[in-house]
Amino acid sequence: MDDLKLVFNNKSPMISVGSANFGQGLVLIAGPCSVESETQVRKVVDGIYGRAHILRGGAFKPRTSPYDFQGIGLEGLKILNSVRETIPVISEVLDVRDLPIVSEMVDIIQIGSRNMQNFPLLKEVGKLKKPVLLKRGMQATIEEWLSAAEYILYEGNPNVILCERGIRTFESYTRNTLDLNAVVAVKQKTNLPVIVDPSHGTGRSELVTNLSLAAVAAGADGLIIEVHPDPKNSVSDKEQALSPGEFNTLSEKAKALRCFLESASL
Ligand code: PEP
Ligand code: MN
Repeated sequence: MDDLKLVFNNKSPMISVGSANFGQGLVLIAGPCSVESETQVRKVVDGIYGRAHILRGGAFKPRTSPYDFQGIGLEGLKILNSVRETIPVISEVLDVRDLPIVSEMVDIIQIGSRNMQNFPLLKEVGKLKKPVLLKRGMQATIEEWLSAAEYILYEGNPNVILCERGIRTFESYTRNTLDLNAVVAVKQKTNLPVIVDPSHGTGRSELVTNLSLAAVAAGADGLIIEVHPDPKNSVSDKEQALSPGEFNTLSEKAKALRCFLESASL
């Protein structure tokens, strides 16, 4: 890991997006796996408003099967853009050709797990100043994940936020195995903010709240949670989606735990 000079020596600027300051307090990001319609997005915004700092929503979706829903693309970006006066938004860029339009329409650019080692894409987001959420590849070691961050920093963008989203293991009860070891290790070794995605990390809605609390206890700087106004009818990842009410309960518990840890100086 010795050649990760920028990751290890980075002083990490405060990354501020709307009311969220990554690295200071607990940042909560919530929203649907996929942007489906304006009505759906507005219902989510109403449901999470005042609890989440940032809205998530996939417009371009990376799907394992070419026959699965691929996202509504540009139309989805426009819907996200239309709520930015109310709440900042994050969305994934899949293809380097879409980067100009995605970066214009979102507040944080997401690099998904499947693109963590798409080096041309990492270099291009590195040339921007916009914050980048770098999700860990599902089969990436911590060193490979940090090397991907190094690519972005090397191009001059210091605004990198890391996201642990679970890795592949032999366990098949859960979609992935949330690797909280990595959160603690990366927080100890670097100054980069690290957030956790227990939705993809577990793939099971009934596990999301407790794994969120475990992530807070591990020192995560934030959480990104899939929330849908009608989870069982979500067009993607319905098994892991929370309702707005469930998210709000989660947010209260997570904030209370964070508060307790801070006041106890743990
Ligand atoms: C997502 O967050 O929308 C997503 C597709 O997650 P991941 O890249 O972690 O699989
Ligand atoms: Mn999803």
